[in-house]
Amino acid sequence: MGQDKLLTTTTLILAAWVMIVIAWERIAPYRKDLPFFREGFWVDLVWYTLIQSYFLKILIFDYIIQSAQQHFDWTNFQLVKSWPLAAQVIFFTVTHDIYIYLFHRFQHSNKVFWRIHEAHHSGKQVDFLAGSRSHVFEIIINQTIEFAPIILLGADPAVVPIKALIDAMFGMFIHANIRVNLGKLKYLINTPQLHLWHHANYIEVFHANFSTKFSVWDYLFGTAYDPEYQPGNQPEKWGLGYSFPKDYFLQHAFSFKRFDEQQLLKNQWFFRYYNIRPALLKKLSRLCAKLKPKGANKILQQQEQSVY
Ligand SMILES: [Zn+2]
Ligand SMILES: [Zn+2]
Repeated sequence: MGQDKLLTTTTLILAAWVMIVIAWERIAPYRKDLPFFREGFWVDLVWYTLIQSYFLKILIFDYIIQSAQQHFDWTNFQLVKSWPLAAQVIFFTVTHDIYIYLFHRFQHSNKVFWRIHEAHHSGKQVDFLAGSRSHVFEIIINQTIEFAPIILLGADPAVVPIKALIDAMFGMFIHANIRVNLGKLKYLINTPQLHLWHHANYIEVFHANFSTKFSVWDYLFGTAYDPEYQPGNQPEKWGLGYSFPKDYFLQHAFSFKRFDEQQLLKNQWFFRYYNIRPALLKKLSRLCAKLKPKGANKILQQQEQSVY
C-alpha cells in the first residue's frame, strides 16, 4: 500500500474510533453525567489536539529527526530493515511502551520533570480527549524518543503512521470515561479503570498505574492499583490537589514560575485576552436566543463551562 493510501486509511480508522469511543462513553460511562462539553474541552481540542500537535509534528520530524539523520551516517545501524512490517510495529510498540512506563514513573518522582507532566493531570473531568493535554516539552521528549529510532534504524515508512494510529487509539481508550471488563487480559492490556485511577487525586495513586498501552509493566514492577471501588464524582477527588491555570499558555508558563491566574486577571490586557472566548460565546448565545434552534440553549450552557 502506498504511503498516501495508508495515511488515508489510518485517518479513516481513527475517525471511526473517535465515533465508537464517544458512543461507548454514552452507553457505558465510568462516571455518570459527565458532560460532553466538559471543563477544558475546547482547550484540549483546539490547543492541544489540533494546534500543538500540528506544530510539534513539524518540529520533531522535519527539524529534530531530520537533522539527526543528516549529521550522522546511520547506514550501519539499519537493524530492523529486513524485518517483516508486523515485527517492526510490535518491536517499536513494546520497546517504546516500556520506556514510557519508566519515564512516566520518573516524572512522578522528580520535581523538575513533574512540572512538565502536571498539566496532564490537571483536568478534573477525564474523557477520551483528556489524554491530549500534555506539556510541549513532554511531547518533544517522548515523541522524539519514539519516532527517531523508527526512522534512524531503517524501519519501513509505514511504521510511522501505523504507530501514530496505535498511540492515538490507545490514548483515547485509556482516558475514555467508560467501564470495560477485559477479564484476565487486564493484566496485559491497560484499561480505562486503571488509567482513570491514575488521574484521581488519591495518595494511593500518586505513584501507581504508570502504564500506557500494556498494564503488564505495572503488575510486573508492583505499581498496579486496582481497587473494587471508583474514585467518586466530586471535583476534589480528581486532578491536582492545587489550583492550576485554565489557559493553555499559562499552563505552560506555570511549569517555569508559579503564580495565581486570578491575580493576573486584574491586568486589563490579560483580562481582555482571557475573555475573548467567553465574549464570543455570549455573542453566539444572543444570536441563538433570536433564532431559537432546538436544543441550542442546553449546548450553550455546557459550552460556557467548557471554554476553560
Ligand atoms: Zn502521570
Ligand atoms: Zn493520562
